[in-house]
Amino acid sequence: MNPSIVESKKSNIKMILMEILLNKDISRIELSKRLGISPATVALIITELVQKNLIVETDEKSSSVGRKSRLVRINEKAYEILSVRIRHSTIYMRLCDINGQIKASQDAVVNMVIENGNASEVVAAIVNNILEFLSKNSDKTKRIAGMTLIVPGMVSADGRVDWLEGKWKQLPLAGAIQYATGIPVFVDIALRIQGSYEIRFLPEELRSRSVVFLSLEPGVGLAYYIDGKILQGKNNMFGEIGHVSLNENGPECYCGNRGCFEFYCEKAHIIERLKRLLAETSGCSIFRALVDENHGEVSLDMAFQAFRMGSIQVQEILLDVATYLGRAMLMIRNILDPDCIILSGDLVTVDPYVLQTALAFMRERVPIRTRNEPSIRTAKLPPNKFETSVCLYTFENMLDQII
Ligand SMILES: [Zn+2]
Repeated sequence: MNPSIVESKKSNIKMILMEILLNKDISRIELSKRLGISPATVALIITELVQKNLIVETDEKSSSVGRKSRLVRINEKAYEILSVRIRHSTIYMRLCDINGQIKASQDAVVNMVIENGNASEVVAAIVNNILEFLSKNSDKTKRIAGMTLIVPGMVSADGRVDWLEGKWKQLPLAGAIQYATGIPVFVDIALRIQGSYEIRFLPEELRSRSVVFLSLEPGVGLAYYIDGKILQGKNNMFGEIGHVSLNENGPECYCGNRGCFEFYCEKAHIIERLKRLLAETSGCSIFRALVDENHGEVSLDMAFQAFRMGSIQVQEILLDVATYLGRAMLMIRNILDPDCIILSGDLVTVDPYVLQTALAFMRERVPIRTRNEPSIRTAKLPPNKFETSVCLYTFENMLDQII
């Protein structure tokens, strides 16, 4: 077959599979309409995918297109996805179905720091934990179609990882895991996986323009998309805004800088700050009472509650955080001038106060020529549903192998 025809067929199959996954149950007619592929081509591809057992036809009927037609959906039994996330010294392993529902999970603590020539031991410890998890769930793992390794730090174009905290330099970890498990392994940072999920659900008129995805937990960073394509940068580190200094007299960061954006606006850092407030003898009684009611647990939700109940000390912290967030958003606007900014993290999704205050700060300072404001949105997927974005990411990357 002519190579260009093969390519166009492949691209049609990919689009159809993604559309079926995103829409759960969908008719052939709807697929044809949404993707602009002829009904005859859709029918041919659907038959092929049903034969391969990758999708199934359901008995339910849709009448939304004017006449009844059978629906197709992803064959959920055909795919399972392993999400392996590394943060600090813990490996979080989650075996999921295609929609990100967790079927088995395990956390393992491993020494991740590479020093004194122990790189192979660190890699072996990570690989062995994954192998052990797979063998424990062996009845469920026969159908694992792919794995995504989510790492901190930076990932180069060929999948090697640089991570300051673990002293990793160009570590080919994904390759080592793929070799040991025989499962295709994709590697990326959480921010980019979440970002690509979020832009998928933007209205078409925004998705095809320039979009910033700004994540505030865990870690602070941004991903920048133009027409749905991510900008990587020469060193594949585009968007490392978390370690841009917003206050050169601020506290020292592990990156060697002072007063980093991340220090002021990342959830874990704000929680630490709230805990210090509690430890002060003159600390806020409203906030303390709330924390006591919740068995000592400190959360952003509680900080917002304390502020709404009249805590001036908590408000001071939130205002300070909002000022730094506003400063960073001003930089983003002045440098990138995007059509849309999506913010992710409890700081902006639990309560609108910090985001609205940050936006007011930004609006006061933005140059007149750029007052045509981008669309400001908060993330659709909460941080505790992270696996949903991992599964979509893995599936999309696996499509070439699937077909
Ligand atoms: Zn830093």
